[in-house]
Amino acid sequence: MGEYELICLEGGERVDERYKLSCGNAHKGLLRTVYRAKRLNVRDSGGVFRFYDWLPVRSTLETESEPVVFRSERLSKELGLDDLWIGFTGYYPERGGRVRSCTFKEMEALPTYARLRDNGGGTVIVASAGNTARAFAQTANDIGNHCVVVVPDRSRDRLSIINDRGFARLFTVPGDYADAIQMADRVTALMGYVPEGGARNVARRDGMGTVMLAGAVAMGRIPDHYFQAVGSGTGGISAWEASMRLIGDGRFGDRLPILDLAQNSPFTPMAKAWNAGRREITEEDLGRQRDDVAEVFADVLTNRKPPYTMAGGVYDAMKACDGRFREVTNDEARSAERLWMSIENARPDPAASVALASLIKAVEEGEIGRTEKVFLNMTGGGLDRAREELGMETIKPEGSLRLDMGDDEIRGVVDA
Ligand SMILES: *Cc1c(COP(=O)(O)O)cnc(C)c1O
Repeated sequence: MGEYELICLEGGERVDERYKLSCGNAHKGLLRTVYRAKRLNVRDSGGVFRFYDWLPVRSTLETESEPVVFRSERLSKELGLDDLWIGFTGYYPERGGRVRSCTFKEMEALPTYARLRDNGGGTVIVASAGNTARAFAQTANDIGNHCVVVVPDRSRDRLSIINDRGFARLFTVPGDYADAIQMADRVTALMGYVPEGGARNVARRDGMGTVMLAGAVAMGRIPDHYFQAVGSGTGGISAWEASMRLIGDGRFGDRLPILDLAQNSPFTPMAKAWNAGRREITEEDLGRQRDDVAEVFADVLTNRKPPYTMAGGVYDAMKACDGRFREVTNDEARSAERLWMSIENARPDPAASVALASLIKAVEEGEIGRTEKVFLNMTGGGLDRAREELGMETIKPEGSLRLDMGDDEIRGVVDA
């Protein structure tokens, strides 16, 4: 085995690398990375690549981006917790936060581009105008890799990055996100682009897992509780996988953290399925779907097809640690944001406010003991400050694609 190998969690078979997103044997289970290094040797510098030992890469990229971990005396006091630790991935210079796209999606983007480059390179395609697109576009731009972003028309002005050098190209599609995703699939097939892969991409998961690694190193051991707001739940899976590696290391304790995951009501399909004890998400769990999605405060938490059911997915992660799923209202999230802003100096991403709100609820309901070691993953923040202090430019669309176009027409627009 080289530095790492991939196994399929459904069939257990080894899978050749080559940037694979599934085993190719018709299994639905996720792949997982098995690293040769069982002890984590954290490098002195290199941003997220300080955790090289447990990233599925053979090369690294130049970056300062990494999760920071700190304690907030005032927040601990407010919550009545003696051992609260915060993982923060965003722009917050006073606390060492230098993640310019302002969310932990950048921890996924960096190893994804390195993994791709190790395996022959390519243009990455993303269908979103949210945090994933900003992270992948910013990173593409910083490292000089090409990236194509496909968004619905109405999101055409929503993608902005720092220091635009033209490596991220934007195309619009009439309709909604489902149409943008369908279009991205067609462009991928026609142009040979590489999908970012979502939860199926081990580089995305192990990249997100560095938040837990940074936390365990700072705290001296695996925490008792891990709080995060989820839409796809990939961060929960990643925290679980990182914790298993930390247990294997031997220096960080031998117990998995309890995953305390949260969704933003009224759109809470995984919370509903988990709290009803089900591995399947039903139509009922999805509620009024698009209408519910439109009502939530943190719209990054509204994935309608999360990796919940399959082997190695969110259900398995929650089962392994006896996890808890909470539903947080918009009012609760806003009030958590106000509390954070009265103490800290970087506005949380709405999703991070949902995570804090869920911790507040858990404490109020007596589910967390005062002396327990609690790790709160503030998954993003500081975007307003980064815009102002670093300067951000909106990426202008290069062309408009339509689903009724023929293949040559699509090629023509994208190649122009
Ligand atoms: C994507 C995102 C989440 C949700 O992450 P998942 O673990 O993939 O569900 C939470 N917070 C922020 C800021 C995000 O961008």
